[in-house]
Amino acid sequence: MTDLADFAARLSALTDGRASAPRVKDGAMTLVLDVAGLGSAQREGLAAAIREGGLTVPGVSEVRIVETAERKPLRILAVASGKGGVGKSTLSANLAVALHRLGVKVGLVDADIYGPSQAKLMGSEDKKPVAQDKKLVPVTGVADIPMLSMAHLVEPGKALAWRGPMAGNALGQLIDADWGDTELLVVDMPPGTGDIQLSMVQKHKPAGAVIVSTPQDLALIDATRAVSLFDQAGVPIVGVVENMAGYACPHCGEVSDPFGQGGAEHVAGDMSAPFLGRIPLAIDIRRRSDAGDPPAAGEGAHADAFMAIARKLKDWLKSADL
Ligand code: ADP
Repeated sequence: MTDLADFAARLSALTDGRASAPRVKDGAMTLVLDVAGLGSAQREGLAAAIREGGLTVPGVSEVRIVETAERKPLRILAVASGKGGVGKSTLSANLAVALHRLGVKVGLVDADIYGPSQAKLMGSEDKKPVAQDKKLVPVTGVADIPMLSMAHLVEPGKALAWRGPMAGNALGQLIDADWGDTELLVVDMPPGTGDIQLSMVQKHKPAGAVIVSTPQDLALIDATRAVSLFDQAGVPIVGVVENMAGYACPHCGEVSDPFGQGGAEHVAGDMSAPFLGRIPLAIDIRRRSDAGDPPAAGEGAHADAFMAIARKLKDWLKSADL
């Protein structure tokens, strides 16, 4: 036999203090359960256990659980570039891994409908997300980071032909998925500054944006456009990253600058946006990223470069009270 006081004590242990004191009236037990940060499977498991326990209390024939979730809404960090091929996807994957290493509960969305590559970069190509309660449940990639990519939903190349609203709906499904206790969603944006990008930014309002550029002039002009897209939508620019900066010859070690140097830093300065750092052009970054083994998960100079940028992002999150 369990009386109400016994059950209340067990309830506290079972729910880690998330449940209010249970009340019983006319055979119905009522309690409030704080489900903030729990995934839907956890939530359901907990509710089932409470119901089962509640029904063992004499006189109780029904258990009513009121769920509340007072957590902050999921924050989005958009990683964007003015054009394709500058390493936006590579940077998104590695920054997600680096932020995870710094203890941020991070998730990753591949919104790059023109060339979804996160499933490959994060080693989750074989996984298929399922839907639960009309929401997609993310799959996991490297370091068990929850993630969703357009590549998980459509066959390669198919999304290319989509028109704006269709692409917008699909992107919405990825972002409004069941992200559980994820605090920060890194979103690998479609390259460029067209309608899809603008409507997505307006609809899903990122907390901030990181702009990626290579150092050559043409990429930098496009990066400036990306900055103004976010400005237009009132999204703060967290900063600019220069990718493929400086090439160290794997044979002799001599460093050359095939795309010039320091351009992104100047663009950042002109736009009054912080410069977040530089990632070198390195065969190892390409090789490991493309093999689903992001360098940020390991050790060495390349991992350090991604970690240094991730640290700045974490500081920014803290300073913006996000
Ligand atoms: P985007 O998302 O901007 O189109 P990707 O991240 O797909 O660009 O990168 C394009 C190609 O460049 C990929 O093959 C990637 O491995 C490679 N790459 C990206 N960054 C670097 C880097 N710092 N050094 C070497 N190769 C890189």
